[in-house]
Amino acid sequence: MQYPLTTNAIIDYSNRVFGHKEIVSKLPDGSWHRYTYADMYKRTKQLAAALINQLNVQPGERVATFAWNHYQHLELYYGIPGAGAVCHPVNLRLSAEQIAYIINHAEDKVLFIDASVVLIFEKIAAYTPNVKKYILLNAPKDFKTSLAGAIHYEELIAKESMDFEWMPVEENDACAMCYTSGTTGEPKGALYSHRSTFLHALSAMTPNAANISAMDRVMAVSPQFHVMGWGFPFICMMAGADMIMPSMHLQPAALINIMQKEKVTIANGVPTIWLGIYEEMKKNPPKEKLALKEYIVGGSALPAGLIENFERDFGLHGVHAWGMTETSPVVTVSRLQNEHASLNYEQQIKIRAKQGILLPGVEMRVMMEDGAIAPRDGKTAGEFEVKGAWIISGYYNMNDQEHFTGDGWFKTGDVGTIDEYGYMQITDRTKDLIKSGGEWISSVALETTLMNHPKIKEAAVIAVPDDKWLERPLACIVCKEQETFSVIELQEFLCKHFSRYQIPENYLQLNEIPKTSVGKFDKKLMRKMFAEGKLK
Ligand code: ADP
Repeated sequence: MQYPLTTNAIIDYSNRVFGHKEIVSKLPDGSWHRYTYADMYKRTKQLAAALINQLNVQPGERVATFAWNHYQHLELYYGIPGAGAVCHPVNLRLSAEQIAYIINHAEDKVLFIDASVVLIFEKIAAYTPNVKKYILLNAPKDFKTSLAGAIHYEELIAKESMDFEWMPVEENDACAMCYTSGTTGEPKGALYSHRSTFLHALSAMTPNAANISAMDRVMAVSPQFHVMGWGFPFICMMAGADMIMPSMHLQPAALINIMQKEKVTIANGVPTIWLGIYEEMKKNPPKEKLALKEYIVGGSALPAGLIENFERDFGLHGVHAWGMTETSPVVTVSRLQNEHASLNYEQQIKIRAKQGILLPGVEMRVMMEDGAIAPRDGKTAGEFEVKGAWIISGYYNMNDQEHFTGDGWFKTGDVGTIDEYGYMQITDRTKDLIKSGGEWISSVALETTLMNHPKIKEAAVIAVPDDKWLERPLACIVCKEQETFSVIELQEFLCKHFSRYQIPENYLQLNEIPKTSVGKFDKKLMRKMFAEGKLK
């Protein structure tokens, strides 16, 4: 049979089979909201009807969201595609200039916005003249805003029927889009189809990947504006997992509290989130063991030291994954296989700290500088190229040939190796590579090793110009509370893992490492600050 793989098929299924499952939101004002998949289904139907009947949204039109993770944002994820349109979550942590650029480039006309971030957008609205309609989420009745003609979400959907029929869509139609967060360049739009979203979720929930089932209560920490919340809103509803949405309560203590109260079994997030949670748990050990089985980390490299520390001190199991905005995002996940049972703990951790093996539905190769494909030996490095059912075939409204090969692969800009068992390991991004005296030095390897040092909380390594070697690594270090380091002790520590030429001679102790909107080390900014003499 022909059976279109759409987000409508996901929500219809989850309502039919898992209508009793729960969605819990801790809302921006601190209050809690709880309802079931079945409740969500009805309201999503009303929302889709409202988009068509009241907001005049047309098929294929992009509809923007500017919001934290919560139940209404989840309704938008399904309601907008259900109305035949494209759900476009905008990263609310970007600069005003980038936000305006993205909204204008996507030609968004309707924007759903959380009351808690309205102040940010009021300053941007003058630069996004195409946005004609604002719908307020979680706003008190008497909420005042200068956003012209803003209406309340609850009033909008209350007028509509729950019996709305989804608009007809083809599986290859677009259902969602996200822009890259601009870590290495200007933001670029990635459009996801119904089919790619369905297949990504189906593959990502399997045991070798996120391993999410109807037994789980999943906390979606990664923001819905970052690569569609890593696909978790689709993965969870397909798997029938309860969902816990923390909105803006992303501080370590708040997240620990939510995990305890809601008996969360799986949660996701970038390494900075989990570093923060680890530090907080060390300071204030939870009285009761968390129900958390696994925390899933991507977006930046998960240091082996963090995996070990969490496991030793709190019995919490880290799972490392890799992906990009352009890849929906999940492409690889790292878990041990039965062949690894005989390895010792240290060897096992080494494998788990790699970025992992491919999900079914995607392919990967390592392209060397000379145009040959690297052998799978875990040593020969090159740029990762990927293709598959949820990899973009081009950027939205942009003629870009630079990132696509003639034979149909997407060039990721990430550099690293694949070993004999197919585990990929990232050593760098092409734009962050350090080339010293003709030899490559991996900034990621230096960082993850330095972060294993007991005195170090965070370490970011950038290339700085050097008269003799052209470039040398500069290590920027944030120490744990009340700690300092000596250069000699760090060099001795690195000696065990690196050749002499790879070991930095320059170190800076910082109070904080500059971070991007999604919590990654902002090396583009750090290089600029260094050039301007502002990195101190
Ligand atoms: P941006 O490109 O603006 O940072 P993305 O969130 O799409 O936005 O970032 C994707 C990039 O993040 C990847 O190309 C890679 O460099 C990095 N990344 C993602 N996951 C990992 C990981 N597990 N280890 C190391 N780097 C990662």
